[in-house]
Amino acid sequence: MLCGSSLAPPFNRTSPLFLFFIQMPSLSIFRNSSLTFHRPLLRYHSYLFAKPVHDIQAYELPMDRRAHLCCSAFSVTQQIHESSAMATNKVSNKSKKKVWWESPEGVLRIKLDMCSKHGDVVQALHLYDEARSNGVQLNQHHYNVLLYLCSSVKLNGNGVDENASSLCNNRGFEIFQQMIIDKVAPSEATFTNAARLALALEDPEMAFDLVKQMKGFNILPKLRSYGPALFGFCKKGMADRAYEVHAHMAESGVMPEELELSALLKLSADVKRADKVYEMLHRLRATVRQVTDSTVGVIEDWFKSEDASKIGEENWDTSKVREGIVMGGGGWHGQGWLGSGRWRAVRTQIDEKGVCHSCGEKLVCIDIDPGETENFATSLSNLACQREVKSNFVQFQEWLQQHGPFDAVVDGANLGLINQKTFSFYQLNTVAGKLRQMSPSKRLPLIVLHTSRVTGGPARNPNNRKFLEFWKKSGALYATPVGSNDDWYWLYAAVTCNCLLVTNDEMRDHLFQLLGTSFFPRWKEKHQVRLSVSRSGLTLHMPPPYSTVVQESENGSWHVPTITGDDLETPRQWLCATRARNKIHPF
Ligand SMILES: [Zn+2]
Repeated sequence: MLCGSSLAPPFNRTSPLFLFFIQMPSLSIFRNSSLTFHRPLLRYHSYLFAKPVHDIQAYELPMDRRAHLCCSAFSVTQQIHESSAMATNKVSNKSKKKVWWESPEGVLRIKLDMCSKHGDVVQALHLYDEARSNGVQLNQHHYNVLLYLCSSVKLNGNGVDENASSLCNNRGFEIFQQMIIDKVAPSEATFTNAARLALALEDPEMAFDLVKQMKGFNILPKLRSYGPALFGFCKKGMADRAYEVHAHMAESGVMPEELELSALLKLSADVKRADKVYEMLHRLRATVRQVTDSTVGVIEDWFKSEDASKIGEENWDTSKVREGIVMGGGGWHGQGWLGSGRWRAVRTQIDEKGVCHSCGEKLVCIDIDPGETENFATSLSNLACQREVKSNFVQFQEWLQQHGPFDAVVDGANLGLINQKTFSFYQLNTVAGKLRQMSPSKRLPLIVLHTSRVTGGPARNPNNRKFLEFWKKSGALYATPVGSNDDWYWLYAAVTCNCLLVTNDEMRDHLFQLLGTSFFPRWKEKHQVRLSVSRSGLTLHMPPPYSTVVQESENGSWHVPTITGDDLETPRQWLCATRARNKIHPF
């Protein structure tokens, strides 16, 4: 719906949000607010930016324009009643939309969107004041753009002084209050932007209260909604309140990511809550797996601290620890800090067999439950059938049943172009030959190529035709149809065959994001083979024989992997944290 302000939940003086504001006498902006509504922004201008405020007169519509446009819409609708009902609705909706976009509300939206695009809070506030004095009715989108700009002023203006920033924040709250008075239903973005305003005022309590208000409006908070409260409490060292935010996230089904967990871990270390540091390390292990350099720094600081050396069980029950490892699927036990004394925390590397260069411990390979793979294959098939021409994909599934299973699947388009200016069938054939040698059944891998690669361009070359004919005859080539995205095909084949997938595509684009983060990264780690090309020839980089995930060993040591770039030659950095006395105790 484009027009006006929608009123989803009943918005009256007993609504939770209204009461929330009534209960906030400390905010000066709500006192004498009627005096502030039409404050011209120009007097703030010198505080804000050096550039001149745009002349908004140029955008003004005559006051009678709206009425005129409404009449036009009516007459247009009248005329088209004579044609078919469907066409009538279509044209009518189209003309209604046109009328709205040309109304003061529509024009204001276009201008505010431009302000949003350019981060121009001064102009946005100017437009707001102008719209209010002209009686233009603002809708949810208008308000959200204004709140967004007011709450992100620090981000937009380099060198914006504190006074200017706080003026914008105050005006943001004033606008938020006006939204409530105007009974415009808020959205998740409204609350999130208001929470950001609260954070700018260094008031994480208010930011948290705002998130709690969302449920009263049947709005589900997002991860970003919690940021202001969580980071605000972390910054102030208010650990218990930060843990409450964390608990509230869990209740709302919102999963914290690395940034949030890292902040909680640092806070817990700062306030000497070793149990919470332990919990956050495990949460990073379970959800983030590999961390950025900055998080490794936080973890390293913890292990090097005096507090970390003081905690830990000296005599632990080894059978319980082993039981924990089995129950957890390997790579961790969850029985708390083991050992005693100072930790030795160093940045190191893991060799190709999974042995730590620093402590000599062998990292484990965590298995994937076959049931999980099966479920993943089903959801992959459903998604592919939605995104691709269904009959084409079903035809491929049938073909795969007849010709599979394979020991490896090759993303032909990717491999034919690695280190090559034009598509190289020769390179693809060399890779296929290497995989055939490695295959237990000495079978060629499945080569997936888009049909355009099989018929046009270099495919016309007689030598290349020979490669294609050979693969085809061996039942190792599948040409995906015109209009298809071959990514779906090679990924589905590799998952259902539970075999190696050869590609240098890091699989991070939109298609792969649809697959979620709980299973796919684990599957990829165990199945993706990459190719590097050098003067000495082609090298296939097999998946590591250990899991690249935060690991807690049986004797209480920790190994934390960092995220690496795409360069295959740069080894991954790990943090190894061990201590002299964390040997397995003979219980
Ligand atoms: Zn180690």
